[in-house]
Amino acid sequence: MKPAPFVYHRPRTLDEAVALLASEPDAKVMAGGQSLVPLLSMRLAGPATIVDVSAVAGLATLVVDDGGVRVGAMVRHADLLADPDARRVQPLLGAALAHVAHPTIRNRGTTVGSIVHADAAAEMPVVLAVLEGSVDVVGPHGGRTIAAADLVVGPLESSLAPDEIATSAWFPALAPGAGVGFAEIARRRGDYAVVGVAALVEAGGRARVGYLSVGDVPTVVDVTGVDPADAGEAALAHLEPGGDVHASAAYRAQLVRVLTARVLREAEAHRQTRQG
Ligand code: FAD
Repeated sequence: MKPAPFVYHRPRTLDEAVALLASEPDAKVMAGGQSLVPLLSMRLAGPATIVDVSAVAGLATLVVDDGGVRVGAMVRHADLLADPDARRVQPLLGAALAHVAHPTIRNRGTTVGSIVHADAAAEMPVVLAVLEGSVDVVGPHGGRTIAAADLVVGPLESSLAPDEIATSAWFPALAPGAGVGFAEIARRRGDYAVVGVAALVEAGGRARVGYLSVGDVPTVVDVTGVDPADAGEAALAHLEPGGDVHASAAYRAQLVRVLTARVLREAEAHRQTRQG
């Protein structure tokens, strides 16, 4: 299908983009277009105006230092995955990004776009939540920082106001003595996961596990002190695995048990390697 007609803008500055978004009725931001364009084509979304931020100066910046990784809104998944410093400072980025779609989609799709799109089947909102990162946004009344825990408010719904633009996402560095793990099962390589799990185990023993494709929103569960073999069962008390054409609810629950144990053991092994 073809999209319904819309007015298209491609501003060059953030101020211009913010002004357009605030002044145009029923306007939507477009970044890489890898989720929005299919929705437009299927007429599941029909905004009157598109504000394409791909030419906005300064949004394609990736800044890595010892404190973490700041990913600008126009940094593509592929750029982040290819950056050795980003992968070193926060290894969960590389581990998860390798599972995001196919190379062609990673070449266009942005990590920040994926995060604010708030799809429960997407990897990067879960990674941001497990790491307790944040997203910076700007709107007509100024800027603010949204903690990952406050970002996703429902299925495909973030806490950004309609006139706000996400400018970057912040992923904290992996602390000394901490380790991470990531695993997912998909029907074919590059497909959305049937279930995916990300884990962070900290030096003091605090353990957090995040789930994608289990329920309507990305969910993080604290499993500190729980044996990896039992952690999936413990997490299921906080999850609502559903059934669909890809998998039954019972199969998803079993994947939660198996993958949770796997990623927690992987994170612990990673932690011990880093302690060296
Ligand atoms: P867009 O499509 O441009 O926008 C998506 C939404 O976010 C829109 O509502 C838009 O308004 C909003 N938005 C985007 N950027 C901003 C911003 N800076 N400020 C405010 N709002 C913004 N993703 C996965 O995580 N895992 C997968 O396995 C996966 N598989 C895929 C397979 C296929 C065949 C396709 C087509 C896509 C797949 N994706 C997958 C989605 C892909 O990762 C997208 O790139 C990503 O979800 C959205 O990024 P984008 O830059 O393309 O955003």
